[in-house]
Amino acid sequence: MRLTISAAAVLAASVPAAAQSPDFSKVEIKAEVVAPGVAVLFGAGGNIGLSYGEDGSVLIDDQFAPLTDKILAAVAGLGAKPVKYLVNTHWHYDHTGGNENLGKAGVTIFAHENVRVRMIAGSASGIAAAKPAPPAALPVVTYQNGVSFHLNGDRIDAIHTHGGHTDGDTALYWRKANVLHTGDLMMNGMGFPFIDTNSGGNARHLVHTLDQLIKVTTPQTKVIPGHGPVGTQADLIAWRGMIAQSIDLISARKAKGQTLEAVLADNPLKPMEKPKAFINAETFAKAIWASLDAKPAPAHKH
Ligand SMILES: [Zn+2]
Repeated sequence: MRLTISAAAVLAASVPAAAQSPDFSKVEIKAEVVAPGVAVLFGAGGNIGLSYGEDGSVLIDDQFAPLTDKILAAVAGLGAKPVKYLVNTHWHYDHTGGNENLGKAGVTIFAHENVRVRMIAGSASGIAAAKPAPPAALPVVTYQNGVSFHLNGDRIDAIHTHGGHTDGDTALYWRKANVLHTGDLMMNGMGFPFIDTNSGGNARHLVHTLDQLIKVTTPQTKVIPGHGPVGTQADLIAWRGMIAQSIDLISARKAKGQTLEAVLADNPLKPMEKPKAFINAETFAKAIWASLDAKPAPAHKH
């Protein structure tokens, strides 16, 4: 439990002001409408997406259990109908913490099949360590490559390619509203990505996935990241470029026969590190190294 709380503090720190401790009684849920019928809710943990309109509400992620009532109040505050469906962008507890409350309230939970597998198993180590999830918290509808929601006058595509942050990442794209929710495939303005190699994350898969997401966007797309403020297609492209450049720097050294120890001693990503970064240059270099060692992702259709 102790581990979980300190890890929660780290993940909550993605919202810089919330860095100290996740005192949920003090967390305010702030709604920002990004397009007609589409909003983002900021609180503690991963940014929540919302589709609302005449057919009912769809929530994308749900932060932490103690925030469920405030989240539902923020949804109602937008004049939205009750939540019918929930999609988890991945299994991390700062995105799925409200699942049990919502599942018990009758919300149908959707996610990539690996989200369900990892929530059942839990994880004993790493930044995202978590206990096995109770049954009511688990996704009841799972998919491999994606699923589409036809409601509220739009089509929302839940897209999984190879993940990258984990092996169960979903991004959501509103075709009419032209909004993309990336989950933690993008953390806007936060330096390096978190590649959760304990959860099947892989830096090369992340670049591959970002390429697929960039293809569905336009220069006008509003991009809701997993953490940080709403961004643009240009932010998404820059984020992808920074990751690809980092991989090139590390893989070039590996190709020359350098050891991981030698690479870490040189710390070649240090000049790109942001101050007070959630993921520092060494951590990212290690994740890239592990990604280069991992087998390539299996082929699949896009
Ligand atoms: Zn995450």
